[in-house]
Amino acid sequence: MMASLQAMEGAKTAARPLLEWYRKNRRDLPWRHTVDPYKIWISEIMLQQTRVDTVIQYYHRFLKRFNTLRELAGAPTQDVLAVWKGLGYYSRALNLQKAAQHVVEQYDGVFPQDYRAIRQLPGIGDYTAGAIASIAFNQPYPAVDGNVLRVICRLEGIGDDISQNRTKKRVAAIVCPIIPKDHAREFTQALMELGALVCIPSVPLCGECPVQFFCAAYRTGQQNELPVKKKKEAPRKVPCWVAILRENGKILLEHRKNDSLLGQLWGLPIVEKKESHPSEQLLKEKYGLRLKKTKKLGSASHVFSHQVWNMDVFSFALAEPMPVSNVLHWVKEAELERYAIPTAFQRVLKLLHLDNGWEQLELPLE
Ligand code: SF4
Repeated sequence: MMASLQAMEGAKTAARPLLEWYRKNRRDLPWRHTVDPYKIWISEIMLQQTRVDTVIQYYHRFLKRFNTLRELAGAPTQDVLAVWKGLGYYSRALNLQKAAQHVVEQYDGVFPQDYRAIRQLPGIGDYTAGAIASIAFNQPYPAVDGNVLRVICRLEGIGDDISQNRTKKRVAAIVCPIIPKDHAREFTQALMELGALVCIPSVPLCGECPVQFFCAAYRTGQQNELPVKKKKEAPRKVPCWVAILRENGKILLEHRKNDSLLGQLWGLPIVEKKESHPSEQLLKEKYGLRLKKTKKLGSASHVFSHQVWNMDVFSFALAEPMPVSNVLHWVKEAELERYAIPTAFQRVLKLLHLDNGWEQLELPLE
């Protein structure tokens, strides 16, 4: 009797009940009604950062605005970012458009079927390339996401750290030969679905599992200990000042530089605090603005994967006329919705209602 999924015969045997289970239990999700690589790709990128229930509305909204790859490729980048708003990780939206433009230029707008060609598109890594190749084109390539890592580590009793690339490669090497010929599309989704519905993170539902018989973790009682994930270092704390400047129904926004964090998006003037440097000095050095601080509006924080912005938000007034600037723009407050403003700054904008009359306040607040 084969007990290991890695061994071909056992694996094939495990694949069959897994597929049968998937056919009966799979969720009805919008991207499962299509094999259009463009739509599969959009769903996969969105699913990498957000829960399925949340993705559904964004998926429909995105495809309503950019129904084809050509429409995405030809759209103004600010429109793409605005439609992406709320999903975070804006670099993914920028890469989607870059890749769409590449497909238009290099492949006449037809999504390539070749795995290596897919893998070379901007923003597409091993996982996404495998997902598109298998789900859209039914090719036997593994797509190792968090769910698949967890399922395979438990099935195989693998105790390696799943945040390491070599563990992902090891898991991909296990999955690759067991993908049933002609059923790659279903198999990829079945593994993911098992991880999402049954082999769930904290306490897996082994009693309902179609591959329990083949599971090493279940046999050894390790299903709650696997997979192993080493703790990441805590993100660096970055204390900042954020400046709110308003005039005649307009607010000053910064169009952030391409190469900065949240590049190409719109934000408020922001500087990292430096000991014994007043905010006015730092804002002058960075933006050339001569300002006077008027009022503290509050604080907000935003956690990125590698850093946390702890933002103290103040309203300021111009102490001298504003110099000509390529990055700072007065924007009508009534039209803020049109701008791709990431969540970090949306949190700050929520404090605007506290800014009721900066003119009369002159508070030494540092
Ligand atoms: Fe996961 Fe339990 Fe199934 Fe093993 S038996 S694959 S631990 S749900």
